[in-house]
Amino acid sequence: MRRLAVLAIAAIALFIMMPAGPRALPPPPAGLMPAVRGAMHVHTNRSDGTGSIDDVVRAASAAGLKFVILTDHGDATRAPDLPDYRDGVLSIDAVEISTNDGHLVALGMPKSPYPLAGEGRDVVEDIHRLGGFAIAAHPGSAKPELQWSDWTAPIDGLEWLNADSEWRDERPWTLVRALLTYPFRPPQALALLLDRPEAVIRRWDELTQQRRVVGLAAADAHARVGVRSLGEPYDSAGSLHFPSYASSFREFSIDLSSARLNGDANADGRTVIDAIRDGAFYSTIDALAGPAALGVAASGSGRAHLRVDAQAPGDATITLFRDGMPVASTQGARLDHDASGQPGAYRVEVTLPGSPGTPPVPWMMSNPIYVGREAPKRDTPPQRPAPRTFMTLYDGGEARGWTIEKSAASDAAMEVIGALPGSQLLLRFALSGTSADSPYAAFVMPAGAAVAMYDRLMFSARADRPMRLSVQLRASEGGGERWHRSVYLDQTPRTVDLPFSDFRPRGTTSSALPVLSRVDAILFVIDTVNAKIGSNGQIQIDDIRLAR
Ligand SMILES: [Zn+2]
Ligand SMILES: [Zn+2]
Repeated sequence: MRRLAVLAIAAIALFIMMPAGPRALPPPPAGLMPAVRGAMHVHTNRSDGTGSIDDVVRAASAAGLKFVILTDHGDATRAPDLPDYRDGVLSIDAVEISTNDGHLVALGMPKSPYPLAGEGRDVVEDIHRLGGFAIAAHPGSAKPELQWSDWTAPIDGLEWLNADSEWRDERPWTLVRALLTYPFRPPQALALLLDRPEAVIRRWDELTQQRRVVGLAAADAHARVGVRSLGEPYDSAGSLHFPSYASSFREFSIDLSSARLNGDANADGRTVIDAIRDGAFYSTIDALAGPAALGVAASGSGRAHLRVDAQAPGDATITLFRDGMPVASTQGARLDHDASGQPGAYRVEVTLPGSPGTPPVPWMMSNPIYVGREAPKRDTPPQRPAPRTFMTLYDGGEARGWTIEKSAASDAAMEVIGALPGSQLLLRFALSGTSADSPYAAFVMPAGAAVAMYDRLMFSARADRPMRLSVQLRASEGGGERWHRSVYLDQTPRTVDLPFSDFRPRGTTSSALPVLSRVDAILFVIDTVNAKIGSNGQIQIDDIRLAR
């Protein structure tokens, strides 16, 4: 009898805790075509996910998705698989790259000629050079080491919502509620953990005023939760297959509003990536209600008449934001707004009453459209005044006072070679050893007190293949503090111009900016940040000057 009572109480408690099922929706507004729905940011067992590509695709198919973007961890030196249709789902291969400033998801990129790593700004530059698209992953993670930290790097997109970040910051009660109800309503139980990530959305709104930056809801699906620390996907102690790919894919999706797929995997792969690039998509929390259509259109003179159509129930609220500030709001399925004389980046959030989170997670989130001005292009680097005063450090001939420093198993050599006119330095290196030895080769040029009288270092250089060279300022007094700036080199000769204010600490330093009065050496370093062990190469360098 007592056991029955306990069971009854447990059943009632579970009933009270149970999140509502997905809301029923009216038919889509006339003229809105159904979106091409997919999931972005998925890990397979090629990195720290639990499922094979087949498992992922099967789960996506069951969830009604048309594409999945696979983002296994890597340094981009693996050639991505070609887009491929299986079970009616297009799988698109991409990569999640770890940088010093957080993780970047790189889309639409071939294999890189060298490992991509190091500072976020350099990895973004490399992704762009390779024709790719750089998205800051889980920028608002509760784990500081997983947050995106360089907001001046010219990223093309960010994850306004990341399922893996969302649940790390939840209150215990919400976690318990989600865990207990997960077996019964998995997508809705997962959605209990969502809220509106205020700080990330504020960052996004700031960036879109400068250039087009898209916002995506990212599954970050691993289908695994570490057992020991409950929640660490990288934990090797053992893991539960929770949440499953299938539940993650039913929780939310990104929805391409105008893309049409025709069954040709390569062409469709490009279509999906281009739609993301253009911001021609929105995100929907399908666990609340979905699939759902959303249209945001600008028409009329100056494209100033904004019209939002949503496949929304009558109690939904559509809010229009301009440069991050709400400017219009209405209940229902349609919003009209006259934006004449109000240029800006406009985007839409649709909310449903009773949504989880404080503040509640938006049910649908559009991407910005620009009114009264073009979508600003990627940041062009600021034009600096041309230097007028120079001091030559090397201009052909013997490299007087230069030395070589290297790890034990690596090789490095310098020689003077002929050039037109005169001569230049050839630096040759071969990195060998194990990763435990941190192989490196460094060419060390003495630098006197003159450094402090200038504000930049300039030189001309080329390499025999695409690579990155770390240029370092070292102060031997004070334990060898170093500041560095990484530069890209390839077969094309180029003039490198490195303002000292762009240098950043390498290791621990007493000051964020180089203390020029203490710098006594300038190093040209090849190490395993951007070069593989076993690789070799050569660099021609000339016209090394201080300038201001
Ligand atoms: Zn990550
Ligand atoms: Zn990830």
